[in-house]
Amino acid sequence: MDARADVLVVGAGLLGLSAAYFLGKRGLGVLLLDPRPPLTCTSDKSTECYRVFWPGDEALALLVGRSLELLGAFPEVRKNRRGYLYAGREEALLALSEGAEATGPLRRHTRPETYPEGAASGMDLLVGEALKARFPYLRAEAALHVRPAGWLDAWGLGQALWRRVREAGGRLLPGRAVGLEVEGGRVVGVATEGGATLRAEAVVLAAGPGLPELLRALGEAVPLTREAHFKAWFPDPQGAFPKEAPLLILQEEVRLFGEEEAPLLEGEEALAPYLKALPPGAHARPEGEGFLALFNPFPERVERAGCEPTPPPFYPELALRALARLLPGLEGYLRALPKARVDGGLYVRTPENRPLIGPLARPGAYALGAFSGFGVMAALGAGELLAKHLLGEALPPHARAFHPGRYRDPDYRPPAGSHQL
Ligand SMILES: Cc1cc2nc3c(=O)[nH]c(=O)nc-3n(C[C@H](O)[C@H](O)[C@H](O)COP(=O)(O)OP(=O)(O)OC[C@H]3O[C@@H](n4cnc5c(N)ncnc54)[C@H](O)[C@@H]3O)c2cc1C
Repeated sequence: MDARADVLVVGAGLLGLSAAYFLGKRGLGVLLLDPRPPLTCTSDKSTECYRVFWPGDEALALLVGRSLELLGAFPEVRKNRRGYLYAGREEALLALSEGAEATGPLRRHTRPETYPEGAASGMDLLVGEALKARFPYLRAEAALHVRPAGWLDAWGLGQALWRRVREAGGRLLPGRAVGLEVEGGRVVGVATEGGATLRAEAVVLAAGPGLPELLRALGEAVPLTREAHFKAWFPDPQGAFPKEAPLLILQEEVRLFGEEEAPLLEGEEALAPYLKALPPGAHARPEGEGFLALFNPFPERVERAGCEPTPPPFYPELALRALARLLPGLEGYLRALPKARVDGGLYVRTPENRPLIGPLARPGAYALGAFSGFGVMAALGAGELLAKHLLGEALPPHARAFHPGRYRDPDYRPPAGSHQL
């Protein structure tokens, strides 16, 4: 079967749907191609969190900020503004807060009265009495409460986009792209696994974990890696996890096992890397009648595309151990581990952890991918930016930071790479 569209979007995750929405809104005929139902690869595995806090990379802060503005057009998508709370040593938190102009000013509190409970922007550093009074469940020297940040209903956003894409006449075709059709040096469509050719004026590659192969097929030299990240959901029958908490992040090194436990673990090869001090980054938030726990200190590089990577052995217990250092109330669960549900997906990323949004070297082809751990929060801003590129509209200043051709620009100065959860 041959089909034709103005724009063919390869991949119906949040990014593909966002591009389809913004293109359809401008009157283009959009066809989505995906072998799976929409949103069922990486986009339904996320922690659904967002932050306009990208120390050292204001371009990403602008992209996420724009996404949040655009979310105003989706009043049905629930979101909160609880913030991100980084806990650790004061000095380290002060260092973390540097270079985050878009987040707003830093305020320091030793007494609880000065802490602005519902602040919409800025960062609040809490120490001493202020920390004890406001976050009594934490074991930490200091905490940095970052807003605007929180979490949103990512599935709801995806469904809202999909509905609007269909209302604008967009369609989804089941199938997998295996190659790009090129005529006269221009991409004119894709070849599918079933042998069909789908032709279009423009092709948007939004294939999530499948993007590296498609770029390779086009001869695009963009340095991408894939790494597996997981999360565990625990039930909380003891009510040990604070239901009102923001996203809680352990921002210091952590040891998961005491000296007395180490001999018991000898011979457990899978646990050997976890016996030393581990990097910061364990995080958690309340979810339904339980809580989500994430700790991915050694994300495995993955060579093949896929949607359901296999978690490392003992993932839930390791994540819980890390979080119990921060939340002593969870220690009870280490004695009798509740049954957790674990899932995860692949972070596709560039070396400096900025996504690819815009035209590829071959005319007619566009990339919308490499959103590692921020594809939910950046989806709307990224889809809008892609549509602007494709339609030749004026671009915002941050567009250059995400242009897929930036690696060929001798003047491109990537940021050192901001921290990632
Ligand atoms: C554990 C975890 C926690 C996360 N937490 C957050 C968070 O808190 N906040 C946040 O913003 N982000 C988070 N993320 C990241 C976010 O989930 C992703 O960045 C985002 O979902 C990527 O969306 P996508 O549309 O690019 O990819 P996907 O959702 O994977 O969609 C890509 C689609 O392309 C299809 N496809 C692949 N190859 C082909 C092909 N050859 N032909 C046709 N179709 C193809 C796939 O079937 C899939 O449906 C998290 C991710 C993980 C794994």
